[in-house]
Amino acid sequence: MPEVDRAAAGRAAIAARRARAAVKDAVHRRERRALDVAETAWGDASTPEGTLRVRELLQSIPGMGPTRVARAMDELGIADAKRVGGLGARQREKLRAWLESREGGPHVRSRLVVLAGPTAVGKGTVSSYIRENYPEVLLSVSATTRPPRPGEVDGRHYYFVDDETFDRMIEQGEFLEYATVHNASRYGTPRPPIDAALATGRSVLLEIDLQGARAVKKAMPEALLVFLLPPTWEELVRRLTGRGTESAAEQARRLETAKVELAAQDEFDVKIVNHDVGRAAQEVVELLAVPGTPSARTRS
Ligand code: 5GP
Repeated sequence: MPEVDRAAAGRAAIAARRARAAVKDAVHRRERRALDVAETAWGDASTPEGTLRVRELLQSIPGMGPTRVARAMDELGIADAKRVGGLGARQREKLRAWLESREGGPHVRSRLVVLAGPTAVGKGTVSSYIRENYPEVLLSVSATTRPPRPGEVDGRHYYFVDDETFDRMIEQGEFLEYATVHNASRYGTPRPPIDAALATGRSVLLEIDLQGARAVKKAMPEALLVFLLPPTWEELVRRLTGRGTESAAEQARRLETAKVELAAQDEFDVKIVNHDVGRAAQEVVELLAVPGTPSARTRS
């Protein structure tokens, strides 16, 4: 091979490897399902999906370590070096069935779950717990005009934006919903990442205030609304007034707000009692796992 051709071939090989790495990364981050990757490969074997090795595809699925992958390849009767696009019809069917049973077939719906509840019930704590302990859950990152608190990371906890940027996002139709919370800062749920996730079969969790939850239900009636309840009214009072730094008038105002907010619970599809952060978080995560079983809806 002449020198120039060899250099070009080298560059093409590098580009192809990068493209395959991007595919694996998307599967790993659950932005794409392995099944979608396989279907793309079978539509065109020359795509990055098509030239990806089956073993690499399976390894990129969250929770699939090398031992599990080896066992699966063995069960499926697929040779170690085989590429996804190079599988024969029988092997494709076997792999499709295997991936469907693991990732959920076309019958499984992705779902938008909205977590709301009265002030001080602890929904922020529950969503932080989910962020830390269930990295596979896609938690929507809101935009806000409030300044970051210590430890908050831009792009992870919120997108911290100024008023002009927030206005521009409204104008450009970027938000699924937005609201002014506690008469102070503005908060909004960016829509594009949610649409993208749902389109690829992933569920998304939003932790927003009550007015936001109502607005989402209007815009997307298929969303599942979850109301987080305090174990008792007394416990909510304790949490609301706990710090004791507010005036009596302020405390009375907060309790009044909490009563109004609690009255909204019947607008919600599911109620979860926040006895314990870990347990409440687990119940929310279970709801994201789809499909909508009747038992999940009666939990209260
Ligand atoms: P914090 O400033 O303490 O993080 O949140 C204050 C309140 O804003 C919480 O009740 C939270 O649920 C709500 N919130 C956060 N993001 C959004 C959003 O995108 N939209 C709406 N409507 N509320 C939000």
